Amino acid sequence: MTENTSDMDINLTEEMVDEVLEALWLLEERGTGSTGNMAKLCSLAVEEGAVENPQAALAAVGKIAAQQYLTVHGEDVEFRTAGRDRARRIIRRKRLAEKLLAEVLSVESTEIRSSACRFEHILSPEVTNSVCSFLGHPPTCPHGKPIPQGECCKKLSHHVKPLVMPMSDLEPGARGRIVFIAPKDHSRMDRLSSLGIVPGTEVQLHQKRPAFVIRIGETELALEMEIAGEIYVKELR
Ligand SMILES: [Zn+2]
Ligand SMILES: [Zn+2]
Repeated sequence: MTENTSDMDINLTEEMVDEVLEALWLLEERGTGSTGNMAKLCSLAVEEGAVENPQAALAAVGKIAAQQYLTVHGEDVEFRTAGRDRARRIIRRKRLAEKLLAEVLSVESTEIRSSACRFEHILSPEVTNSVCSFLGHPPTCPHGKPIPQGECCKKLSHHVKPLVMPMSDLEPGARGRIVFIAPKDHSRMDRLSSLGIVPGTEVQLHQKRPAFVIRIGETELALEMEIAGEIYVKELR
């Protein structure tokens, strides 16, 4: 047996793979180059919480390399195609999640990092493109970092249906579930919730003209168009 002190055994989880690949992406982005970066990668992986210490990071990098995501030559760590693709998808989901929180839910940018970290795990690839289209294919996250493009951005088409839309965009007869409400005037929130207009409620658009009327269960409610534009729904089919 060798006396390699880095030969520490760790239980490599998919999340650790994601985080180490993400760390290498960030290093490349910072322009620190891909030569002699093993130490930087290990310390960033620890900093980002992927692993507990540099020895564990070194062991993780070795295992991830064995999975064909990375190549290691001495102190050099480089992406292989599969690793770069996986990292790009992770970064894209995370930064789109940040953008969604900032733009739509008005979360302060200082609060975003921890929330987006959890949020990225609930964005499936299909939903990622819908969120990207919904946000207008944003080029950067709220911190100004580039968001890697997806298929939806390259086509720049509207073939991918937005995930959520203002209720005012529904067609008469269409049904939707309220996802969130983004009122300009916060006092409207109470009035809306007293009418049963809260996230999770299923609504049907009855008519748009002469008045905007929705149906919730057996009840019909008339709303101002402006307010209808602040209520975001996911269309139900
Ligand atoms: Zn960001
Ligand atoms: Zn896009």
